[in-house]
Amino acid sequence: MSIQQNLNTIKSQLPAHVTLVAVSKTKPVADLMEAYNAGQRIFGENKIQEMTDKWEIMPKDIEWHMIGHVQTNKVKYMAPYVSLIHGVDSLKLLQEINKQAAKNNRVIDCLLQVYIAEEESKFGLDEQELEELLKQVQHDKENFKNIRIVGLMGMATFTENKHQIEKEFKHLKTIFDKIAASKDGISKDTINRVSILSMGMSGDYQLAISCGSTMVRIGSSIFGSR
Ligand SMILES: *Cc1c(COP(=O)(O)O)cnc(C)c1O
Repeated sequence: MSIQQNLNTIKSQLPAHVTLVAVSKTKPVADLMEAYNAGQRIFGENKIQEMTDKWEIMPKDIEWHMIGHVQTNKVKYMAPYVSLIHGVDSLKLLQEINKQAAKNNRVIDCLLQVYIAEEESKFGLDEQELEELLKQVQHDKENFKNIRIVGLMGMATFTENKHQIEKEFKHLKTIFDKIAASKDGISKDTINRVSILSMGMSGDYQLAISCGSTMVRIGSSIFGSR
């Protein structure tokens, strides 16, 4: 199957409200261009250097999403162009994104990464840390004019156990709904439009969508294994 065929198959399975991020990490520009020529405009990368190299040479109507863990000292390299940062998990990082966005006269959209897996290795905030972070941003909103928190991101445990994965996705959806509906403590302008729930990858995106995902990050099912 070609990249174009893989893309078409996946897109035909996605409901209209679900956005597809084509995860192109480690893949050569020729592969990304094949997806681009098939109509794909949103690409996800997990390393800033690699994403920036690709951004420099590829068409400028592409939306670049940073899906990996972000080191504070590297934010400046993507601040001129990045469309959405999925893995924000600290106030310090949010402050740096705001600072670099301001330098570039931009407002950068961010997702807060929530820890839902059982594994130790995954990054993210727990529910309490998430609420705390939202409150801090709300309290100090004059200093966060160049970022927008537009939703949440999560990764399920790496397991074959579908029940486990489903439980974790549903948990994240519950947190998402709570925050999106929240009236006290967190006002509408901190979370101007918490509308994106980024969950689901090649192996579990259908399950994620059935649990409420609005954005799936799919790599190997489009571009082949890495
Ligand atoms: C690599 C990666 C993906 C895509 O994984 P596939 O299994 O290849 O679809 C999705 N999300 C994140 C955060 C990733 O690092």
